[in-house]
Amino acid sequence: MDERILLIQNCMYQYSRAIYRSIKDLIDPYASGDLQLTYRREVLTACEQTMERLARDPEYFAYPDRTLFQDIRRYFPITHQAQVAWAVNEGVAAAVSFIGDQIEAGAFDGGVTRCRATTRKGKPCQRTPLPEREYCPSHQHLETSVAA
Ligand SMILES: [Zn+2]
Repeated sequence: MDERILLIQNCMYQYSRAIYRSIKDLIDPYASGDLQLTYRREVLTACEQTMERLARDPEYFAYPDRTLFQDIRRYFPITHQAQVAWAVNEGVAAAVSFIGDQIEAGAFDGGVTRCRATTRKGKPCQRTPLPEREYCPSHQHLETSVAA
């Protein structure tokens, strides 16, 4: 894989940890020990998934901060929601600005290929193919049908 993409993924991982660290102590304090652990794991996973998606498909991920907050808000008491929303906004904004710089620097041109499919509207699909593949997740069935 392209070295710059690996670097970006590594940075996105750091961003997801930073967001998680900024909100983990706000997770529902009245949840029992086991539940507390489950909540923490869910929150961390949601942070990682948001950052992964942002790194993979930055131009097609419209509101990553809102998406992440919607995914995790249920793990926090009402009294902490505003603070969580703020921390998520800040953390995601930092990651988005980093990705924006990478796009401007051309990290997503050349190095990353585009899916070979044509969309229903007749335009070339702009999504990133799956690793080692020629089609994105929505069009991967095209690849298997060609191979078969
Ligand atoms: Zn596609």
